[in-house]
Amino acid sequence: MNDTIYTALDIANIVGAEWRKLVEPTTEIETLCYDSRKLTNHRHALFFALSGRRDAHQYLQEVYKAGVRNFVLKREGFKEELLADCNLIVVDDTLKALQELAAHHRRQFHYPVIAITGSNGKTIVKEWLYQLLSPDYNIVRSPKSFNSQLGVPLSLWQMNSQHNLAIIEAGISKEGEMATIQAMVKPNIGIFTNLGAAHDEGFSSPASKVSEKMSLFQEAEEVIYSLDYLDNDFTVPGNKHFSWSLKGGSGDLAIIESHKEGHLVILKAIYNKQELRLSIPFTDKASIENAVCCWAVMLALGYTTATIASRMPRLQRVGMRLELKKGINNCSIIDDSYSNDMSSLTIALDFLRQQKQHPFRTVILSDIAINEQDANKIYKQLAKLMEDKQIDRLLGVGSHLAEYAHLFQLDAQFFKSTEELIQSLGQLALQNSTILIKGARVFGFERISKVLALQTHETTLEINLNALEHNLNSYKNLLTKGAKLMVMVKAFSYGSGSFEIANLLQFNKVDYLTVAYADEGITLRNAGIELPIVVMSPGAETFDQMILHRLEPEIYSFSELRDFIKIARDKGEKKYPIHIKLDTGMHRLGFENEDQHELISVLEETETVIVKSVFSHLAASGDQKHDAFTKQQIDKFIEFTTTFQRGLGYDFIRHIANTSAIVRFPEAQLDMVRLGIGLYGIGSDTSNGLFLHPGAQLKTSITQIKHIKAGETIGYNRNGHLDGEGKIATVKIGYADGYNRRLGNGVGKMLINGQEVRTVGDICMDMCMLDITGVSAEEGDEVMVIGEHISVECIAKSIGTIPYEVLTGISQRVKRVYYYE
Ligand SMILES: *Cc1c(COP(=O)(O)O)cnc(C)c1O
Repeated sequence: MNDTIYTALDIANIVGAEWRKLVEPTTEIETLCYDSRKLTNHRHALFFALSGRRDAHQYLQEVYKAGVRNFVLKREGFKEELLADCNLIVVDDTLKALQELAAHHRRQFHYPVIAITGSNGKTIVKEWLYQLLSPDYNIVRSPKSFNSQLGVPLSLWQMNSQHNLAIIEAGISKEGEMATIQAMVKPNIGIFTNLGAAHDEGFSSPASKVSEKMSLFQEAEEVIYSLDYLDNDFTVPGNKHFSWSLKGGSGDLAIIESHKEGHLVILKAIYNKQELRLSIPFTDKASIENAVCCWAVMLALGYTTATIASRMPRLQRVGMRLELKKGINNCSIIDDSYSNDMSSLTIALDFLRQQKQHPFRTVILSDIAINEQDANKIYKQLAKLMEDKQIDRLLGVGSHLAEYAHLFQLDAQFFKSTEELIQSLGQLALQNSTILIKGARVFGFERISKVLALQTHETTLEINLNALEHNLNSYKNLLTKGAKLMVMVKAFSYGSGSFEIANLLQFNKVDYLTVAYADEGITLRNAGIELPIVVMSPGAETFDQMILHRLEPEIYSFSELRDFIKIARDKGEKKYPIHIKLDTGMHRLGFENEDQHELISVLEETETVIVKSVFSHLAASGDQKHDAFTKQQIDKFIEFTTTFQRGLGYDFIRHIANTSAIVRFPEAQLDMVRLGIGLYGIGSDTSNGLFLHPGAQLKTSITQIKHIKAGETIGYNRNGHLDGEGKIATVKIGYADGYNRRLGNGVGKMLINGQEVRTVGDICMDMCMLDITGVSAEEGDEVMVIGEHISVECIAKSIGTIPYEVLTGISQRVKRVYYYE
């Protein structure tokens, strides 16, 4: 969607290629890509082989096979003969080349570019400014929260001459990164949202973090910022300044009052010595701050107070999430009904394609936000995109889509309105499908997702897939070179999900998955998981099924080994992979040292199985006081495997390290590690440079609020008392949901509208009560049971157990929702 045309030759020149081989120098490049798993528009795509933690040079053949013929590469990263018919542009640093191309592209346009930075609120402020300014501008903006060293160039690449305003987000996590972003974005207007603790570890001091962030605006004409986060003597860059403050009545826009009226907040401010007033449809602190920031921007842009006051109350919640949930008729639903434009659609389609659990992929799509003059071109691209992403079926809503119906080759039906589609849902036979619901806000597609999603219990466990990916990568970064990665997805992935998590791990190319029981493995196979899967407690009665589904057994005893060999031999198997478990001190399952000779002789006699790996489990790798014992276990393991390997005469994978050993005993990583609880964000140990993100949030809501008189009791056994008169909230979570009964009577804490409250009285089966005396809360308000401020670790500690038990104890009736931000 780029009206400035670049040929492969142009780009080689722009990025200053140190070597090039252009077989077709005039190929026009339209799409930039960098992820071998997310390719589109292959003929006109340029692949940047970035060398992050996944060096993309490893995947060049995959990209080539998909049909891409244009590459930016590092000299040592590829074999020329394998890319014989390609345009090859060789540079020293492929990310830098992408950034240079983006910088060049941005310089082609002379309309204003607004850049937003700060610790929090960047994406919300960007999306709200988009809502507020769209009536007057044709805006190009960063997709989702694409604000990194990679996200910013991809955002800038979307600019074209149809736009007349760009809003670009910029985020940094360590010193030195902003200079690169500044050189690309060259913003005319800068917005500094706020300063929080995020990424503190990357900066020497808070002051250096502010200066680094503000350096984005060193050439900006105007900077809009909050005074509340700056020291008095801080020099803000830029020629013109517009400041705002929520405290102390200072700044160009000084908020002097904010009060709640139902679901609105009324804000009063002084601007130009005048008192202004407006309302916003949000009541939480962060939203108020973000809204005031937008207010300041509109004033700085010259909007009248009347226009601002009429638009602000119509701000809408920003739904940047892609939510994955269970649907009716054996479907999965991906809900993304906040916006519809090509860039967010591409992201959503990639997420859809990553889902392997059902045989079909369906897209329910509304008209797309575009200019009339581009319609034909964009709908052509859209049709091509549906084909590239292998969508089976399209259900289109809106007059535009209907008009371009002839462009779509796949099974497609079109509807005039959302209503009309909902009326027809019964006859559409949507089953065994992953369904992406993607619509612009005005189409109200949340009504469709209400019909298609399986309605269950209101209490939900939200799994943050970005956080899991982040945690996975954090551990990958700690691995010694060549060490493989096995991820433990037993017990419903520690309570967080089955194929949803396995899909993510498969997409991120881990080496192995491990489950406890055969049926867990079969579920994963039926959901399209093709990774090798180890079953830890197989049981002879399941061997048949395991072999049928290519599940690999853990073998811990001679009787199990003989049983397995017999069944596998009867099925004519040869070299079926098995995994030998050793007991080095855990004393649970496994062969002992003295079993070695017999084990070798049994294995030597058969061709039916092959030892794929040998492993053992550490009993106390997380506990310093047992470090000597752990070292002993590791030594024993190495000793055993060394002689065993000699005896067996072939190589196998050796593994012993679980999550905490990956960090605490790097020498024990050997050929593979087994990551468990760390994936879910538990085990942050900042001294080791690990900054994990919590993977799960458990949420419920207030069913009823009651006023309690002094002396009255609350709940079963009359155990609940308040200090005097007070107020309680009953919430829909109890011990049957996995909220442990020991969390009753003030032990458990939850968060309501950002305020911490405690349980009162005994926890019931399906409910419990909270003391909300003095807390502002209404029936229906969201209650955070586990989340950023109520950690699994703290809950576990308060009832004398471990995070593993808390996580896996969250019952299956609690609805799981997976999201990507
Ligand atoms: C569960 C399990 C792990 C993972 O342990 P974490 O402490 O969660 O990392 C590793 N190995 C075996 C054999 C396990 O059963």
